[in-house]
Amino acid sequence: MAYEKTWASDGTKLSKEELHKLEKDGLDILNDIDHYAKEGFESIPQELWGHFKWAGLYLQKPKEAGYFMMRVNIPTGIISNEQAVTLANIGKDYGRDVIDITTRQAIQYHWLTIEQLPDIYKRLNEVGLSSVGACGDIPRTIIGNPLAGIDRNELIDTREIVNDVYHFFQRNEDFSNLPRKFKMSISSNVHNAGHDRINCLAFTPATKEIDGEEVVGFHVKVGGGLSSKPYLAEELDAFVRPEEVKDVAIAITSIYRDYGYREKRHRARLKFLMADWGPEKFLGKLVEVYGKELPTKGEDKVENWNAGYFYGVHKQKQEGLSYAGFNVPVGRMNSEQLLALADVAKTYGNGEIRTCNSQNIVIPNVPDEKVADLLAEPVFETITVKPKSFIGYSVACTGIEYCNLALVETKEATRKLAEYLDEQLELDVPVRIHMVGCPNSCGQRQIADLGLQGVLMKTKDKGMIEAFEIYVGGTLEKESATFNQKLKGRIASDDLPEVLKQLFTFFKEEKVAAENFYDF
Ligand code: SF4
Repeated sequence: MAYEKTWASDGTKLSKEELHKLEKDGLDILNDIDHYAKEGFESIPQELWGHFKWAGLYLQKPKEAGYFMMRVNIPTGIISNEQAVTLANIGKDYGRDVIDITTRQAIQYHWLTIEQLPDIYKRLNEVGLSSVGACGDIPRTIIGNPLAGIDRNELIDTREIVNDVYHFFQRNEDFSNLPRKFKMSISSNVHNAGHDRINCLAFTPATKEIDGEEVVGFHVKVGGGLSSKPYLAEELDAFVRPEEVKDVAIAITSIYRDYGYREKRHRARLKFLMADWGPEKFLGKLVEVYGKELPTKGEDKVENWNAGYFYGVHKQKQEGLSYAGFNVPVGRMNSEQLLALADVAKTYGNGEIRTCNSQNIVIPNVPDEKVADLLAEPVFETITVKPKSFIGYSVACTGIEYCNLALVETKEATRKLAEYLDEQLELDVPVRIHMVGCPNSCGQRQIADLGLQGVLMKTKDKGMIEAFEIYVGGTLEKESATFNQKLKGRIASDDLPEVLKQLFTFFKEEKVAAENFYDF
């Protein structure tokens, strides 16, 4: 699908970022990396720093130091054994041994230099991985069901569909200049493993009787997103057959590209267009761009929301095989741990590791009789199959260590907080705590039972200190999806553990059995 940059000539006043993108397409930076790797960081013009996002790279804090953060796409979270070993070795050789799992199932490194990038790209390429489009105003990696293909709770195996859509958009210059980032989710899991309503575009499991036959396919939700103005995606009155997913995804991405707002960057996400148009008008435009009618909605097969957690050992759809879900505390591993995981995945399973949007992992395809031996492996002393109520359900964004936008440190703060709460309290239900270092909400603060958003607070005696706003009651449950609500005031970081201990003690004492925090 070729396109013209119509928005550049229709009289719309473009933001400065848009004008910059017209001068040089984001993907063009890929042609420059080898040159800059030879010439060094100082040779990169400052106005091109932002273009590195299209290559999956952000300059980490402080930008002038020349260290990059890299995000590697892992569509639907599936990593082969060879890929896992490569990812671990890149972390060891270049990333100061820090390997993070993100809330979009990607793998993230820090501390990379421009000189190292050609070898890193070569290694990724050799095993079929890419960081291209992991950041920037472009379709990002596609999240979905980490259990795709092995899941007793999926209607159809979505691996091929995800791959098709992902590869269509990879390095596709027709879609490399969107108004902002574009996030897709494709899942056929009835427990909403793909976090449907916080994505720009989500395909969710559905069935429909067509010509007397029950067809398994998808419903479509459009216009979700977080940040400081969060929106839940709206459902279109449409049913999409599996073979149509790619073309519908292309049509919707084209609508965003051609009608999305480009005047003000903070109004550029698809959610703003959807909020103005509404689902009916959007569907009308989709039919026009797609070129044919879609059947109306069928039966929604989403039952509830598992929040992306798969702890414990569970039977697969394949007889005699099981998968095990493990907690990677706040999603951070070192290369030794990832190599050990790759090793046990190969010894007991088929070598695959799957990443979850809860920043955790699954090891699939383990013969039932080998499960006990798998669980006895030393790596699972720290990456546990049955984590406690707080550390097992804590999510943290990158934070001030590396992120230029962060106001506070998040990873270690979340880990310490969760470990403290686990020492102090035992609950009969997990509490999902998400900590973010700024309103951008990469750690998906809005959907947490308890969201913590870092701020700076002025005090009389200590001047500016790190503090947190507290938000309660977020969920993507089918009938009650809602973002969490801010409590009054801010809590100094130092006081946070004690305040939350009191809050959760009250919850424990007052709740009815098995009541969740967001229902409380
Ligand atoms: Fe950085 Fe803010 Fe995203 Fe955290 S939420 S990683 S602080 S931009």
